[in-house]
Amino acid sequence: MSIADNIKRIRETMAETAEKSGRPASSVRLMAVTKTVDDARIIEAIEAGVDIMGENYIQEAKRKIESLGRSVHWHMIGHLQTNKAKIAAGLFEMIHSVDRIELATELDKRAATKGLSLDVLIEVNISGEETKNGVPLAGAVDLVHRVAALPNISIKGLMTMPPYFDDPEDARPFFRSLRELKETIASEKIPGVEMNELSMGMTGDYIVAIEEGATIVRIGRAIFGERPLRTPR
Ligand SMILES: *Cc1c(COP(=O)(O)O)cnc(C)c1O
Repeated sequence: MSIADNIKRIRETMAETAEKSGRPASSVRLMAVTKTVDDARIIEAIEAGVDIMGENYIQEAKRKIESLGRSVHWHMIGHLQTNKAKIAAGLFEMIHSVDRIELATELDKRAATKGLSLDVLIEVNISGEETKNGVPLAGAVDLVHRVAALPNISIKGLMTMPPYFDDPEDARPFFRSLRELKETIASEKIPGVEMNELSMGMTGDYIVAIEEGATIVRIGRAIFGERPLRTPR
């Protein structure tokens, strides 16, 4: 199967799942997760119509964005160290992995210097696993309030990564919790906070994520095949 074939098949599944769940197909967008993927294969995905690319590592992303350009949207989905906020603020259109006030404050400062407003999602660690990034569920609402007060940051929604399960059905409660949190936050009508985006669902569990309300699915392996075990930075 070519990359274009993979994308076509995923898009069909996405549309079917959205429609079965009573939502228009256009309510769910496909992000191609391009960590470790070389330029030629990313170009194949772009030519097949994907226009959101998700990267995990700053240096790798910087090189690719310089080489491939900004005709597509580049989003940051990986863990972001506070000392990388300066580069990240000018590089990405959206950062999915804001999970602490120190990082948000630094991004705000850097966005201000560059004269831009930066779109972010708040990453929530629903499972509470220690190995996972994200603000714990119990601290999420408070973090949203604090980030909302930063003038150059604009919250657009939430992101999560559930634990790995062999059966994607087991991930459903985590996706559902994120959607419920989104609804809770939306009902507070916090000035400057939009709760339009739910970034959730990967190769193994995107169907369940869409059923639970995902608006952006982040897919790597189902598009590009398995990644090398050791991920170069
Ligand atoms: C790698 C990665 C993905 C994509 O995972 P696949 O299983 O390859 O689809 C999605 N989200 C994040 C945060 C990732 O790091």
